[in-house]
Amino acid sequence: MKGYTGLRSKKQQDINSNDIQAVVDTLESNYLTQGPTVEKFEEGVASYCNVQYAIAVNSATSALHIACLALGLKKGGLLWTSPNTFVASANCALYCDADVDFVDIDPTTHNMCPEKLSEKLKQAKKCNRLPDVVVPVHFSGASCDMSKIYALSKEYGFKVIEDASHAIGGVYKGHKVGSCQFSDITVFSFHPVKIITSGEGGMLLTNNSDVASKAALLRSHGITRDSDKMKSPSHGPWYYQQVELGFNYRMNELSGALGLSQLQRIDEFIARRTELAARYSSALRELPVILPSVPDDVVSSWHLYPVRIILDEVSMSRREIFEHLWGSGVAVNVHYIPVHTQPYYLSLGFQPGMFPESESYYDGAISLPIYYALSNKQQDLIIQSIYSVFSSCKELVIC
Ligand SMILES: *Cc1c(COP(=O)(O)O)cnc(C)c1O
Repeated sequence: MKGYTGLRSKKQQDINSNDIQAVVDTLESNYLTQGPTVEKFEEGVASYCNVQYAIAVNSATSALHIACLALGLKKGGLLWTSPNTFVASANCALYCDADVDFVDIDPTTHNMCPEKLSEKLKQAKKCNRLPDVVVPVHFSGASCDMSKIYALSKEYGFKVIEDASHAIGGVYKGHKVGSCQFSDITVFSFHPVKIITSGEGGMLLTNNSDVASKAALLRSHGITRDSDKMKSPSHGPWYYQQVELGFNYRMNELSGALGLSQLQRIDEFIARRTELAARYSSALRELPVILPSVPDDVVSSWHLYPVRIILDEVSMSRREIFEHLWGSGVAVNVHYIPVHTQPYYLSLGFQPGMFPESESYYDGAISLPIYYALSNKQQDLIIQSIYSVFSSCKELVIC
């Protein structure tokens, strides 16, 4: 595509000299695989989020998988999540041989709609097919309405895993996302596009000690060296036992060191994203787009700045607008293709039309660039490009 200005190539992670030094120091240390630095990263995140237990793993996808297993999801079980998410939020159920279904989104927050959840639970109870686990996803960094979802979990007896891959540093009703005040487990991602990065990485947080020790076992082959957890007496100091079928989902020390170093700047990262979001929101008010709106009791960490084009009011398709912006060097993206419309999910029996709010949201969705290192000047160029694309739409309407 032509008109490339370089904005598009800007990397989203921000790595400073402290981050680099932390990784180099680790390379020279005794441990490369999971060790004392990963433990410090876990303690750092746990204390930041005010939660009791934190288990670091090699991705949020792995964290979601062992979260499901630790909560007892198994063959014949059922997990519900939002269609407006990355596929990993749903795939975790399939890894456990359980089934997946979706709860449509609220058209204002684009998060799982608690009223639709309540309605679907009533129906599911009648059919005797209640979910075992529900995975609300904090889309773009703004928490779902967790107190309502958690109350429903008590009423209907399911477990709650918050997919907070976007939302570390966010706040809901005065509680940090990750505190698990309204859930059994919260999961974070440290993929480079997320708020802080460990290269690849994820973390599972919980206040339940049984869930934490189960997850810790599953992270590393189901193997324990703790004689209290063994099924029979230890043979000696070399001895370990495999007591579950686990995986190698460990975080390595290089990732742990990078994550721990990035955690020192998390509030700075979020403050900058919040500024950028506010600048977009005031600059784009006049356009035929619906801007993101965050409920009063939520503080977003602004992983994404998703706008929704009002397609009836413009003469271009979302695709044309996207391609124009991309062509002028603006690294726009789209979040998310509704999971149930993916070919793999269609092959499981889902059909387009099943979750209309998420589908119509997808039709007009464009995510604007938002990341710590984006300067005001660059953002102003992006805003100018957006205005010029929309004004060319208007001219077309007038013609
Ligand atoms: C990024 C993301 C994941 C997966 O994270 P990884 O660390 O890449 O496995 C899961 N869910 C959501 C909502 C995400 O955005």
